[in-house]
Amino acid sequence: MTKSPRQNSLTAHASRHLAFEEYLQKDEPFYLPVAHEVEIFEAAHFKRLPILLKGPTGCGKTRFLEYMSYRLGPLPLITVACHEDLTASDLVGRYLLEGDETRWLDGPLTRAVQSGAICYLDEVVEARKDTIVLIHPLSDHRRILPLERRGEVIEAHEDFQLVISYNPGYQSVLKDLKPSTRQRFVAIEFDYPSELIETNVVKHEAAVSEELAGQIVRLGGKVRNLREHGLQEGVSTRLLVYTGQLIAAGLAPRIACQSGFVQALTDDGEVSKSLQEVVEAIFAE
Ligand code: ADP
Repeated sequence: MTKSPRQNSLTAHASRHLAFEEYLQKDEPFYLPVAHEVEIFEAAHFKRLPILLKGPTGCGKTRFLEYMSYRLGPLPLITVACHEDLTASDLVGRYLLEGDETRWLDGPLTRAVQSGAICYLDEVVEARKDTIVLIHPLSDHRRILPLERRGEVIEAHEDFQLVISYNPGYQSVLKDLKPSTRQRFVAIEFDYPSELIETNVVKHEAAVSEELAGQIVRLGGKVRNLREHGLQEGVSTRLLVYTGQLIAAGLAPRIACQSGFVQALTDDGEVSKSLQEVVEAIFAE
């Protein structure tokens, strides 16, 4: 079995308040460039500009960052999955009570700023407003992080780079990135890869034949065209890979498609019926 990038782990942390991951890629992650994202990231990294990755879920943003962090160093990559309870202290750090003593525990952002890692705040709009304010002085020429609780301001390590992601498909009035935040980031737009690239991704990731990968990807294209018919978002490359993996593990294609993406995409009986018809048109049995 090939080593997954996840196995190149340096450390993975989980605290009561927040789980985050810190990895140093020792082997080159498999990544097929889709457009100019690699050159853009490299140019932005050269000037340490903060980056916004825009795009639907499961289209390769995380894999791209794993690849870039390998290519540019390797540099450690610290990833925080943002959620609505995520506070500034979760990112920066907090004092913990240990017996009669208090001990300061750095949060993931502080670790990244100090050690020169790439810090990836995934789905940043989900986080509370105070966290957004916190990243402002890190995302302009100042490159500083105020640690309010400690009364300190730390300067970012020269290799530190901030990357955030954002899914415009989930946009709502309440959860949108303000222009004052957006306009601090170089934006790279992601979408599902072209048929040719996606076929190669599915072939590699699911270890299936080119023919089968091609069928799964064509199916994905048709499902994405059904988006107006009640699907919030098209099928992700991730789900197409899962479907390929289920078939590779011996499941009949129709069953694999049902569990691999149809049920994952919708709870609506009518929509799921239309999806199944598309599946049946590609996989005869
Ligand atoms: P996101 O971070 O956008 O939600 P991921 O990076 O986790 O999505 O992508 C999901 C999966 O899709 C990856 O684990 C990988 O298997 C595959 N993938 C998508 N795009 C690519 C690509 N361009 N090259 C290689 N693998 C890709």
